[in-house]
Amino acid sequence: MGFAIFFICHFYLAIFMQTAFYHRYASHQHFTMNKFWERVFFVASWLIHGVGYLSPSAYAVMHKLHHAFADKERDPHPSSNSNSMYDMYIDTKNSYINILKKRIPVEDHFYNNVPTWAAFDKMATSKYSRLFWLVVYVAFYWFFAPNIFWWLLLPFHLLIAPITGVAINWFAHQPDGATSYTHFQQNNRSTNVLRFDFIFMGEAYHNNHHANPRSANLGYKWYEVDIGYLLIYGLSIVGIAKLKKVRIRAGEEELVPVLD
Ligand SMILES: [Zn+2]
Ligand SMILES: [Zn+2]
Repeated sequence: MGFAIFFICHFYLAIFMQTAFYHRYASHQHFTMNKFWERVFFVASWLIHGVGYLSPSAYAVMHKLHHAFADKERDPHPSSNSNSMYDMYIDTKNSYINILKKRIPVEDHFYNNVPTWAAFDKMATSKYSRLFWLVVYVAFYWFFAPNIFWWLLLPFHLLIAPITGVAINWFAHQPDGATSYTHFQQNNRSTNVLRFDFIFMGEAYHNNHHANPRSANLGYKWYEVDIGYLLIYGLSIVGIAKLKKVRIRAGEEELVPVLD
């Protein structure tokens, strides 16, 4: 029981770090932080994501390209190019590495406002760091996994951030998905995945987000509670984050859908 609770807590911590720091802070600047707290988030991402740590700056550039070219040729992970989530994972991994190693040309403006800490990223994305965390995770399972079946979780546990990142981008660009629905007609395949996103902390409201990428709150209808946004709002109350936009409501100009 204790192991399951630990796994669930770790899963949600990883999701929070991804949605708050990588997506909303690094990619969209929905909120600002001072340098001290930005670096705390860099280190916390490494501690929480471990083997699966991604460079926030490379992630942000990749994500900005996704918004600029969603489901088009320059989209770093177009869902229409992939036959399965695994295909998309490989596609996304290659795009991420190409951006990280600067192997593909990317216009300068995609790097605007992207948080960087080159020395830390070099350490955290090195094979030594990944090996260190691999040993830590295996040791943890060795000592604490209640039985052999829990080891089946290990590959997912090692790569929570990259796998859940691909999962959301996969499901949120499948307009024919079982639970898919949209509020905004757009020139991309983005869709909302869940009416109440209890899994991805608001990231499932992806059609809303493509329509209003500047909105810190990814929910649009009353039932689309954005847990990630609420937690960032909490950080703003205690003075860690400064939200740029608290809420965009129906009828405001930003919500005009992008029509085909
Ligand atoms: Zn985004
Ligand atoms: Zn998208």
